[in-house]
Amino acid sequence: MSRFLSARLEALQPYTPGEQLGGQKFIKLNANESPYPPSPLVIASLGEREAADLRLYPDSSCSALRQAIADSYGVEKDCVIVGNGSDEILYFALSAFCDSEHGFVCPQITYSFYEVWAALLGVPCVKVPLRQDFTIDVGPYLGCGSTIVIANPNAPTAIALERGEIERIIKDNPDNVVIIDEAYIDFGGESCVPLTKVYDNLLVVQTFSKSRSLAGARLGMAVGNAALINDLDRVRNSFNPYNVDRLALAAGCAAMKSADYYRVARDKIVATRSYTADRLRALGFEMTESSTNFLFVRSDRISGQELYEQLKARGILIRHFPTPELDDYNRITIGSGTEMTALLFAVEKILEGRK
Ligand SMILES: *Cc1c(COP(=O)(O)O)cnc(C)c1O
Repeated sequence: MSRFLSARLEALQPYTPGEQLGGQKFIKLNANESPYPPSPLVIASLGEREAADLRLYPDSSCSALRQAIADSYGVEKDCVIVGNGSDEILYFALSAFCDSEHGFVCPQITYSFYEVWAALLGVPCVKVPLRQDFTIDVGPYLGCGSTIVIANPNAPTAIALERGEIERIIKDNPDNVVIIDEAYIDFGGESCVPLTKVYDNLLVVQTFSKSRSLAGARLGMAVGNAALINDLDRVRNSFNPYNVDRLALAAGCAAMKSADYYRVARDKIVATRSYTADRLRALGFEMTESSTNFLFVRSDRISGQELYEQLKARGILIRHFPTPELDDYNRITIGSGTEMTALLFAVEKILEGRK
């Protein structure tokens, strides 16, 4: 820290992303990236012509991509916004709908970036405890009178909340925005996108980073009532009207035309998830019911920290959260079949000779 840093930033604890170790050949099961490449159409869209056009600013309105999303989701184009990752959109949403007096509530255990943004924006963040089994009890959210942020399925718990339960929250908070972060929705659970046509206080945020194999493109989207989307656009145009670059726009359009390809990839990941879960259970692991592309696991046979370290020593990265409530657990991304075979082999070796 320099002596010039503002006191507000000095006090803030930034988000720690999953390790991205360059050079070494790790099996990366720590950032919930897809093990599969983007669709052939996406790769073909990033040709020489697109590169040559980089001298020009991108379309600030992101018109073609928003239209492609709108067509695919059966909504109007003015009900869609795109951003530099869904992280940016979530940040825009908290900037738009919260301030120092009007904070938001979110689950106690969830995507830890929410509270980082709260600190950065000076917005109060109230955390609602989960049930003992890590499921979300909607009770405390009903009529809570503040903006609500819920990841569905939730992370790192991997558990999905029924759409009907989310609808209860939306209905019971008509004067507050309910933000549903659907980063993992393609791997399980029911999307709330259809509800955006019924409720003007619902914002559904999705990403191209997980099920669409485009984490490196930094592309996210939100669907909601046109007035809500317009509010987000106000923030976007006050921050960076060229927030999505030309290559990402081209890749995103091609990705929206590749539904079949991504469905096949998703099905493979879901099948690998089920196989990996069974094998880990046989090795004595407990886990939540995953509706995502990762497993949230623990075992009496080994601590979360030790499993993380031992796998890292064997060239496999998983995610460990060193907080008191999550210390026992690890989050393991579902990789390719080969990667999961290597993981299971390594776990067996690590546990060999233990009770
Ligand atoms: C990965 C993730 C995001 C961020 O996605 P980007 O679009 O890559 O910024 C947002 N929310 C949750 C819960 C995630 O797991």
